[in-house]
Amino acid sequence: MMESYLKAPKEERNGFKDKERLAKIHDLPCVVCFTKGIEQKTKTIAHHSIGGGLGLKVSDRKTCALCDWHHTRGEKGEAIHETPLHEWEEKYFTQDELIELTNKMLENNN
Ligand SMILES: [Zn+2]
Ligand SMILES: [Zn+2]
Repeated sequence: MMESYLKAPKEERNGFKDKERLAKIHDLPCVVCFTKGIEQKTKTIAHHSIGGGLGLKVSDRKTCALCDWHHTRGEKGEAIHETPLHEWEEKYFTQDELIELTNKMLENNN
């Protein structure tokens, strides 16, 4: 695992910074609200994928657009940080899917 981690492109390694991406994500709708047709009531933030940390924060490229509600403010089962990850991912999307959807939205926004 360590070996494959070291072979990852530097953009995907922990600690990689991409302020421009984070700023653009703030202008996107929440991926969950948008895809599920839910009315978004809180602002969008960039969520960094949970689980890849080896000390440093995961790469800014491994971020997705979530509203405050689906990030931390929603009740258990709604907010990714307030729910066991596998439960949340089963209900909505895996974090890799969220990143993919966010990347598509960023492409369409250009
Ligand atoms: Zn949302
Ligand atoms: Zn987060």
